[in-house]
Amino acid sequence: MIPFVRALDFAYGRCDRVSPRIRRVIAENPGPFTYLGTGTYIVGEGEVAVIDPGPDDPAHLGAILAATAGEQVTEILVTHTHADHSPLARPLAEATGATVRGLPAPGLDTGFEEADEAGFRPDRTVRDGERIAGPGWTLEAVATPGHASNHVAYALVEENALFCGDHVMGWSTTVVSPPDGDMAAYLASLDKVAARGFATLWPTHGPPVTEVAPFLAAYRRHRLEREGQVLAALLAGRGRIAEMVPALYADVSPRLHPAAAHSLWAHLIKLVREGTVACEGEPGLGSDYRLALSPPSRGAGPSPGGSSSRDRRSPSG
Ligand SMILES: [Zn+2]
Repeated sequence: MIPFVRALDFAYGRCDRVSPRIRRVIAENPGPFTYLGTGTYIVGEGEVAVIDPGPDDPAHLGAILAATAGEQVTEILVTHTHADHSPLARPLAEATGATVRGLPAPGLDTGFEEADEAGFRPDRTVRDGERIAGPGWTLEAVATPGHASNHVAYALVEENALFCGDHVMGWSTTVVSPPDGDMAAYLASLDKVAARGFATLWPTHGPPVTEVAPFLAAYRRHRLEREGQVLAALLAGRGRIAEMVPALYADVSPRLHPAAAHSLWAHLIKLVREGTVACEGEPGLGSDYRLALSPPSRGAGPSPGGSSSRDRRSPSG
């Protein structure tokens, strides 16, 4: 079980100090993917960075400007370009003169989830490991693709904390929805974050995660368990996503079954690329999947067979 954290004392538009260097204002856009709403973080004092300005909502823009009255917003950092994260970046930059940083919109269908802000272009593209600093604060970009191909988290060096966007959420698992979402990249990003030993994760939605190592371990285990369930379903002769969803997500509201289907699709794409699962053509939502049986000629060594099959399949990206 994932040790979810959900309790949060807040009011929409109110600015709360949540750590020595961090304040938070929550936008009023609650929903099945945004929980209570988008949490916009303000880092520093006097000259500040704003992380994930949020949806294009004049009331939220007003709340951020009120929270930073008498201060200068110098940096606006975007974790990814879903519509509940980035659209307010440009209006906030126009109001403050701040520099917008992040990665451009991927220009890919993001599936059923939060729509992507397809036209998003940062003033400055961030690079993994790049540092952005102000008085008393240093933020380091940590590329974390998976939920979105352009997802970047930002580490607050002085507090050993990570603004993790939608990569990790305390209240829920994260949607990994192809074609922009990528399960293999997602798991690699989880490992990358776990290896850093952060003391606190600040997701864009919901309360912080403070028991970071066990939380990430459970988060990762959940994905691998799901992958095991997919393989078991294939072994039982259920080769279509539409057949797997009702069985694997019996405890989830049918309203969320389209999201569940995309999540299983993400698992199956990963398994096909790894050579464990096969289907005709490109792995799709409606494909008929089966377990791939290794030809006997591959012999006992697992790695040569695995890598050659991955190489063959890699052009699908
Ligand atoms: Zn998102």
